[in-house]
Amino acid sequence: MKTEKYEFYHQSNIIQIGNLLDDLHEVHVHLLLLQRRYYRIYGKYAAFGRICSHITKLKRRTKPHWNQLPSQVLQQVAKRIHLGYEKFFDYLDDKKKGLSPRKVGKPKIKPKHKYNSLTFTQAGYEIKDNRIHIKCLKKPFTFWKHRKWTGSIKRVIIKRDNVGDYYLYLVCKDTKPAKELPLTGHEAGADFGIKTFLTLSDGIKIESPQFFKQMLNAIRSATRSLSRKQKGSNAWYRAKRHLARLYKKIAQRRRDWFFKLALRLVRRYDRIAIETLNLEGMKRLWGRKISDIAFGEFSLILHWTCAKYGKTLLRAGRWEATTKPCSDCGTHTENLSLSDRQWTCLECGSSHDRDINAARNILRVGVPWT
Ligand SMILES: [Zn+2]
Repeated sequence: MKTEKYEFYHQSNIIQIGNLLDDLHEVHVHLLLLQRRYYRIYGKYAAFGRICSHITKLKRRTKPHWNQLPSQVLQQVAKRIHLGYEKFFDYLDDKKKGLSPRKVGKPKIKPKHKYNSLTFTQAGYEIKDNRIHIKCLKKPFTFWKHRKWTGSIKRVIIKRDNVGDYYLYLVCKDTKPAKELPLTGHEAGADFGIKTFLTLSDGIKIESPQFFKQMLNAIRSATRSLSRKQKGSNAWYRAKRHLARLYKKIAQRRRDWFFKLALRLVRRYDRIAIETLNLEGMKRLWGRKISDIAFGEFSLILHWTCAKYGKTLLRAGRWEATTKPCSDCGTHTENLSLSDRQWTCLECGSSHDRDINAARNILRVGVPWT
């Protein structure tokens, strides 16, 4: 399975997709309230099949206007709620068994402005060249087809982001795999850092471009301008959208840089090792800077790129010591502080750069990430 993302052109009828989302939000609210009532009366939740037959009943009786909405999309609204409950129950089961799973909450009613996506499974749309025709809407929508998709389309998702742009996601099956890159015989460990984004075990250092910092002034003035507006007014919405657009721009620039960097690494090395990060802890420690650097996102992108071009990504365990051991003899040096950039091993006498030593250790202890 592979997903391709396309941006919709800004066209006058795109607002109709927004209206469709708002209509689906109404269904979403109705179904969740229904589940709550059902639970109050019977002490359990209604199964997915039951909800589906209830929807058909509603369409005939009190909600005839739901007939205008594409039926599969309507069903997907119910399906999402169903999956939400399933996950919630799995969590409760795991907790009963004494495991300590990640916390999953009960499905909540989303506010209208956060209800941002709809899913087609098989029917209700038609795609021709760079146009998608949604059966319940009159005119087709044009999207920017910057690349071709391969394989067969299994699922179509349309999303609205908080800037107000719309995107089309095509989930394809049996896609053509990318050509694998030739093996080079090189391997490297990589250590993430605040100032230097990546330090590789062979001594190469890659600086962090700090896109957030570059736009800090623009963001500050946009935030200030937003706070001067009266909440809920037209000017407030305009300012809010402007700020959202700035944040989006940063995210896009960063992501672009990540993909290019990942490709550069994958071209050069056959095996790359990274550390498993404790992101929450780091965020608490370093604050905004970490979100700017976004190691987690880069790890994922590197993971995809490696899989795509037939290279291996290794990962060092979270509890693995990588800073203290000497990469030549393995002796731990306990009294290292964050400010010690250079140090000498007392056991074997080799001198180390802190980051390069860590990168070497990461390569040593890494296991394939599947
Ligand atoms: Zn040593």
